[in-house]
Amino acid sequence: MEVLQTLYHELISFLGIGQLLEMYKTGDYKALLTFNGVLTAVSPVIPFLLLLEIGRALVYKRFKVEDYKMPFFIFVLNRFIGRFISIAAIAFCIGLFEKLALFHTTFTWYWLIYGYIVWEFSHFIYHYLGHKVRIFWCLHSTHHAPQNMNLFVSHAHFFLEGPYADVIRTTICILAGVNPPLLFFIMFIDGFWGAFIHVGENLLPDGRLGFLNKIILTPSAHRVHHARNPLYMDTNFCNLLNIWDKVFGTFQYEKKEVAIEYGITRQLNPNNLLDVYFGEFYYLWKDIRKAPGIKNKFLYIIMPPGWSHTGDHKTANIVKAAYQQEEQQKAQQQAAEQTAVLPLETSQAV
Ligand SMILES: [Zn+2]
Ligand SMILES: [Zn+2]
Repeated sequence: MEVLQTLYHELISFLGIGQLLEMYKTGDYKALLTFNGVLTAVSPVIPFLLLLEIGRALVYKRFKVEDYKMPFFIFVLNRFIGRFISIAAIAFCIGLFEKLALFHTTFTWYWLIYGYIVWEFSHFIYHYLGHKVRIFWCLHSTHHAPQNMNLFVSHAHFFLEGPYADVIRTTICILAGVNPPLLFFIMFIDGFWGAFIHVGENLLPDGRLGFLNKIILTPSAHRVHHARNPLYMDTNFCNLLNIWDKVFGTFQYEKKEVAIEYGITRQLNPNNLLDVYFGEFYYLWKDIRKAPGIKNKFLYIIMPPGWSHTGDHKTANIVKAAYQQEEQQKAQQQAAEQTAVLPLETSQAV
């Protein structure tokens, strides 16, 4: 019975409907008029969309257990270990850095705009490092392992990634003067939007959201981020506002002619939890072991994925540059062929 009760509580918590059920039981809906009440009402939206997404996939016979299985296992694993470390990390950083803040802000709409821009910057830093520093890629790659996109992918994270992300983001925001209640509100919006941008093609085939694609980071832009195509690699690190990707030149629109291929570039067994969760650690360890000298061993830890002590690098930047050169050559060749054909056609016409 106890097991059933635990499962029931887990389900209610996952669906985010605990407080709404409480209101229903007591018949007291006044809380919905408060700020916290509004947040309570918004919480079930993403779980509801996830169920809708699974439902649609079932109806159209596109549902594949393997699309959801691995993110679900990881979600269960993180439920037990990841969440508490993350909460502790946030509290620790606030306590440590609040007195060192440059200045202090309050909970107003204009500080919300300021706070969100700072938050997005801190998110960019954490996420950029997650892709460009090999040891951090070991933590982040679990999120990039799924070979399909759906709302459950937002739960697929290595359990230490949350605390590491929160240490960087909280530290930057608190030092920049973002007040803690404002920070928690921003985290709430970020969590909501960060989950929504993982909506799959089953529920939202075109993720560009019309004109919004130009001003915010849409599901389409995040699908690009999850792609392993050379053109799309290491782009779109932001979460809601795409300003920092535009500032640092990492923004990339989804191109109709370049179909997204989800996943990471190395051979991976997406159905093997050990490979998805620890695979990158294993390959890093292998590289460190074979590297000559302490300096090379250390460089493997901090250099981007694909860096090699032999000089034969296969980093995202190098793969992308080779792709762009190839594309340029193709375009030049096509242009040359057209100009070669043109006089012939003209002379025939004459
Ligand atoms: Zn990423
Ligand atoms: Zn993602």
